[in-house]
Amino acid sequence: MSHGYERELAAGIAAVALAARVCQSVQSQITQDVLEKKDKSPVTVADYASQAVVCRALSTAFPNDPIVGEEDAAALREPDQQPFRDRVRAELAKVGVNGDESEICGWIDRGGHDAAGGRYWTLDPIDGTKGFLRSEQYAISLALLVDGRIDVAVLGCPNLPLTPGDYGSNGCLFTAVRGQGAFVRSLAEGSAPQRIQVSATADSAHARFCESVESGHSSHDHSAQVAQLLGITKAGARLDSQAKYGVVARGEADIYLRLPTRADYFEKIWDHAGGVLVVEEAGGKATDVGGRPLNFRLGRELRENRGVVVTNGKLHERVLAALKQVGVE
Ligand code: AMP
Ligand code: MG
Repeated sequence: MSHGYERELAAGIAAVALAARVCQSVQSQITQDVLEKKDKSPVTVADYASQAVVCRALSTAFPNDPIVGEEDAAALREPDQQPFRDRVRAELAKVGVNGDESEICGWIDRGGHDAAGGRYWTLDPIDGTKGFLRSEQYAISLALLVDGRIDVAVLGCPNLPLTPGDYGSNGCLFTAVRGQGAFVRSLAEGSAPQRIQVSATADSAHARFCESVESGHSSHDHSAQVAQLLGITKAGARLDSQAKYGVVARGEADIYLRLPTRADYFEKIWDHAGGVLVVEEAGGKATDVGGRPLNFRLGRELRENRGVVVTNGKLHERVLAALKQVGVE
């Protein structure tokens, strides 16, 4: 059945744009607003506020759709977290989202579904929290999956200029609906979407690649070896979050490498679903390091995949061959 997804896209754009405003508002005060989760990763007032905003909006528009979000409100509900809860509530109020503590925790926990079959959303309220804390790149990533197929993607990148290099601008928002192309617009209100396309680079020696800032998230040693085999002399761009998918989708980079650093880590669906559809609809390709298709049908994690390789399509086989040569597959 063909499906235009007009309502889903409109609701997703409105939700992510509002969440981006919350994140931008929190950014100036981030240092005092960090909580440590059980896995020792940092979580900020903005992670919670962003998830609350998006889950609240989706629950209103599509009350029956499950949401698989990265965060839950367990740590926030702890009795000694009153000041933190107050900060989340105050940040939400600034963008006109008013709720008491229990409502806010309830919105956040709307994102506590486990991925199953059928139709559900997946959300990373702040992808690249470490980038957010450094005032660098981060993203709000939302995707609608239907039976493991990504049908709608909305990727807000509040610190990524609409035009490369234009750092005075307001950040940008990528969107894609399966079969309808990929677009970018400014996060400023009323901005018109522009169609985007991956690069035409076919000569690997001229390729520009990008990767995580965090060497714990992607092996910089292996990417350097791959770059050398491809004849790339330019250093890769390092940026946090799914902004990397955005820069490949609009042709600013040709390759995004995410090369495993540990045997026991599985990529999370919310770290990729939004970005993957944006790149595919811009004409690019995403697989894992062995060239296997990314399997989004297995719950919260890409358990059948290792790492991620994203290219403009033309360079894909060449990059996979280089990875094989350095023993990453
Ligand atoms: P990036 O900003 O591209 O470095 O990716 C940030 C994401 O990396 C976070 O949302 C985490 O879910 C994810 N992450 C955490 N640990 C690892 C790991 N060992 N390997 C790959 N990704 C990870
Ligand atoms: Mg993330």
